[in-house]
Formats: sequence, C-alpha cells, structure tokens
Amino acid sequence: MQRIYQTLALLLLVPFFCRTGIAMPPETEPPRPMIIAHRGASGYLPEHTLAGVAMAYAQGADLIEPDVIISKDGTPLVLHDIYLDTVTNVRDVFPDRGRSDGRFYAIDFTVDEIKRLKVSERIDARTGHLVYPQRFPAGKSDFRVPTLAEEIELIQGLNQSTGRNVGLVVEFKQPAWHRREGKDIAKIVLSVLSRHGYRSRTDNCYLECFDADELKRLRSELKTDLKLVQLFDGDAWKSQSGEAGDIDVAAMQAGLSDVATYADGIGPALRLLVRIDGQGRSSPNEVVAEAHARKLIVFPYTFRRDAVPDFCPSFEALVLLFARDMGVDGLFTDFPDQTREILQQNPALR
Ligand code: CA
Repeated sequence: MQRIYQTLALLLLVPFFCRTGIAMPPETEPPRPMIIAHRGASGYLPEHTLAGVAMAYAQGADLIEPDVIISKDGTPLVLHDIYLDTVTNVRDVFPDRGRSDGRFYAIDFTVDEIKRLKVSERIDARTGHLVYPQRFPAGKSDFRVPTLAEEIELIQGLNQSTGRNVGLVVEFKQPAWHRREGKDIAKIVLSVLSRHGYRSRTDNCYLECFDADELKRLRSELKTDLKLVQLFDGDAWKSQSGEAGDIDVAAMQAGLSDVATYADGIGPALRLLVRIDGQGRSSPNEVVAEAHARKLIVFPYTFRRDAVPDFCPSFEALVLLFARDMGVDGLFTDFPDQTREILQQNPALR
C-alpha cells in the first residue's frame, strides 16, 4: 500500500518538474538561458545568506552566485563588499575596529568574530538608507555571513537530496587589494573549490572577476581548468564621439577577442548590450553576436523586478529582450522565480 502512495506521489511530482522546467536527473545539456541567482534570492531575503541560497535553489535557479572575500585568518567568506558595515551590525558589536576611513574591513576580522555579526538588508554607505526599503525588513530575524565552504555544502547537499545539479558562479572580489593586504584570494578560493570537487571545465562551476589580469593569471599561472567569466561594468568600450551610452565597436571587438584568449564568457552590465533609439526604445546591439562568434557565453547582470532600467517598460520586457531577442546564455537575477515564470510562458526559451 505504501508503495502505491509513493508511486502516486512521484506521478504527481512529474508534471511539477515538467512545468517548472526543473530537469529530472540525469541532466545532460544545461538549460538556456540559465537562471543565475544573484547573491541568492536577494529580492526576498538578505543577500549572501544561507536562507537566501536555499530559497533561490527552491525557486529553480540553475546557478547560484557567491561573491567572495577573505577573512583575517585566510578563510573565504561569502560577502559582496570588502567592508562589513553595509550589510552587518559590525558597528554595534565591534565599535572600535574600524579603520581611519571609518569603514570596517572584513579582512581585519577572524571568521569567529564575523560569525558574531547579524546580516541585514544592504545599506547605502553614503546615505545610510536601505538600498531596497521594500525588501526584507532591516534588522529582523537572524542571518549570518556564510563561509564559501558552508554555502557549497548547502548547494551540494540540496543537489543530493533533490537529484538536481545546481552549480556555482563564484566571483573573486578585488584580488589586487587582497594581495596588498597579504592574501592571495584566487589561490585560496581555488583550493576550497578543489576540496569540494570543482576542478575541471566539465564541473558545474564558473569563476568570474572584473580584474582581467587575475583571470589571465588563473589560467596561465594557477592553471585552473574551471570556466572563467570576464565581468564588465557599464562603462566598458565607451565611445568618445557618439551618443551617450554608445559603444566603440572596434574597441569592443578587440576587447572580446582578447577575452576569448583566456576566458569562456563575459558578464556585462545590462546597459552594455542595448542600443537605445531617439524615442527611448531599446534593441540588441552587436555585443552578444560578437561574443557568440568568439564562442564566449554571455551572462548579463542584474535582472531586478523592483529596479527595471528606464530603457525597458517592464520586468517582463527586460527579460524577453535579453533572453529571446538577444539569446544570452544566463541571467543574473534577484528574482529567480519571476524570471523563470517569464521564460516558461515563452516555451521557446525553456
Ligand atoms: Ca557578484
């Protein structure tokens, strides 16, 4: 009798997996475009918390993005800034531990000390106000800064218990600054990833960084075989002569050719992939086609339902512009569930 119930339960789950597009194991080709949970499900829970990672996982993210910095005792922690003061109560717990610039640097604290801090919604360091006041209420509940190892264990544990294969997009924060502070962030992170089984390009793990020299070093000196993604902010390849927001096509083409010598993809700001006409309407520019011609994947950032750029009328239009009209390979989003929903309403996309 019990077996019948188990079978029934499984049969009930099958349409769920089909409807949501969550692949049943074994998974072969990754879905396109992939949904990359930007710092977890950060539209709903404070960024870079294990709760936010679990929620992103449950919402069907294909990849989850930890940003990484290094503690005083050399441990990789999942934190977006080299500072603790924008997302934790460090000023209350360690009031005397700031530097002369008034900031509290994670690298001045041990993991044990950082574990005493509570994580909350992001504060703008300049204004002291919440960046997204309509998101999770500040100072509520109890969230901590995870180590990279803890976050990987959570994702791998869920991979085992669900049978899915959710991967990682790991960003190294400010490698040159870390080096000046006496820490080789790339080396430290590679060793933690290797210990958890991420070593080759077939493993479900991408490394990303804004620092091109560090990505080149990862490939040539540190000999990593993991997939590398070169990040670009909105000012890349800026045209000197053209309209505001226009890019210098020759500089972009040369830049992408260079990236193709050491990396597997690019992670551009949304604006870098868009052309805006005199009426404010947006359309794809040449960047995605030029990247794909060089066999580079494209993971643009960041898709936020509550902060849609003014070149798009709605979140849905934004997702469709990039996923359908440009054919990008992954979307960094604070809202994995709503991004997934839009992709599923357009069957050609998932
Ligand atoms: Ca990031």
